[in-house]
Amino acid sequence: MTGLTHHLNAMRSFFNTGVTRSADFRKQQLLQLKESILKYEEALNNALYEDLHKNKEEVWITETGMVLSEIATALKELKNWMEPRNVPTNLANLPGKSFLYYEPLGVVLIIAPWNYPFQLLFMPLVGAIAAGNCVVLKPSELASATEKVMGRIIEEAFDPAYILYAPGEGATMIPELMDNFHYDHVFYTGSTAVGKIIYQKAAASLTPVTLELGGKSPCLVTPNASLKVAARRIINIKFSNAGQMCIAPDYVLAHRSIKKEFIRLLKETITKFYGDQPIASYDFGRIINKKHFFRLKALMAEQEIIHGGEHNEEQLFIAPTIIDEPSMDAPVMKEEIFGPLLPVIGYETDEEITSCIRRNENPLAFYIFTGNKKEAERWLREIPFGGGCVNNAATHYLNKHLPFGGRGNSGTGHYHGKFSFETFSHVKGILKTTTWPDIPLAYPSLKGKLGTFKKII
Ligand code: NAD
Repeated sequence: MTGLTHHLNAMRSFFNTGVTRSADFRKQQLLQLKESILKYEEALNNALYEDLHKNKEEVWITETGMVLSEIATALKELKNWMEPRNVPTNLANLPGKSFLYYEPLGVVLIIAPWNYPFQLLFMPLVGAIAAGNCVVLKPSELASATEKVMGRIIEEAFDPAYILYAPGEGATMIPELMDNFHYDHVFYTGSTAVGKIIYQKAAASLTPVTLELGGKSPCLVTPNASLKVAARRIINIKFSNAGQMCIAPDYVLAHRSIKKEFIRLLKETITKFYGDQPIASYDFGRIINKKHFFRLKALMAEQEIIHGGEHNEEQLFIAPTIIDEPSMDAPVMKEEIFGPLLPVIGYETDEEITSCIRRNENPLAFYIFTGNKKEAERWLREIPFGGGCVNNAATHYLNKHLPFGGRGNSGTGHYHGKFSFETFSHVKGILKTTTWPDIPLAYPSLKGKLGTFKKII
């Protein structure tokens, strides 16, 4: 038995003791987690700057603040979430009573990517702890400074038989983690390509999965939009973390009547936010590594660059870049961009919008900018996608009352707030009946009772 299998078996035994089931235990662990995060807040800020050039304000908004807020919600709501929920009972089962019981799944595996390396590992962790599970955490190896700090946070706060931190290179670590142990759930965030590997491995043991994947998220800007606000909000999100955000607008579809003016506003806003020298900007990030730097450089090749395009390999810097009218067959319109390149495509008709979006799989997010409520409503219903916003981009992610997730190629399942608790719980449907009255209607013989059954069922 390898050391890792020994650890995983120890987790199973620990879960089977039932210790994680009580509300008090779960609360205690959430408080412990909070304390450890706060202790390492400064170290996290430094590590995220080292890995991605994130400033401490951005780290608070998109990483630590989000996780601490999720912990606060779980602490406040836990008792309520754990209570069996009373639901209506059908006529045939009266005078019985019906309930939903939430129980922990067991030992779960959480796998995270590098773009928000802390938040995307710890947000699901909060849900998994709140739901009473033991957790194996597999961080991304690419955000290596953050990976080390997260290890200290977890290992100081928890016994490895309860929460096990398992860093390492994905291609070798995932088989080690998944091939010899049966998890009760696997929660994966990352690329669609690796998502397929995870899904196949989980399928071998019929392990349920949540897959938080990627895709090309369109931004539709109609002639009814407030163009200034749309430009500000699209630029703010698209170039946050240098575009390395799963729900960043991937490309803009702008109506031809407003496209020229909209591009002028996009350019003006980029300069306003990041200055004439974005490489020197406090607010502009860096590409995670050379592989992604060269991938993005290749996406820019042979494109009509109308703003930006500058890059610096040594600093892993690519300027906020606007690409005009790329061919639909160019890689930049076929792959998820995941970097600071923003294609803008003009459209004239509704058919052009749908045919452009349908060239790729269901997007993770969709954003429509319009002052016309009917128009917004129509597009929200017309396009299949994970989640999205009207007159904004990505901010739906920040509302814990909204489930976050994709559909099909962009993901399966969802989380955040109570949805995380549900994702990491099994819900048992329970009918409680009394021994009196013991109505003989359903007992044999059924002969001659069809009319009565038709009335009550
Ligand atoms: P990735 O798939 O390369 O890595 C994610 C995790 O999988 C890492 O922990 C990594 O170690 C592991 N891994 C990598 N290669 C593996 C392999 N061959 N076998 C097993 N495991 C392996 O993803 P990434 O590059 O870190 O993240 C970028 C992608 O993630 C983008 O597509 C983005 O849209 C998506 N993403 C989605 C969300 C979301 O919430 N839906 C959030 C962030 C990122």
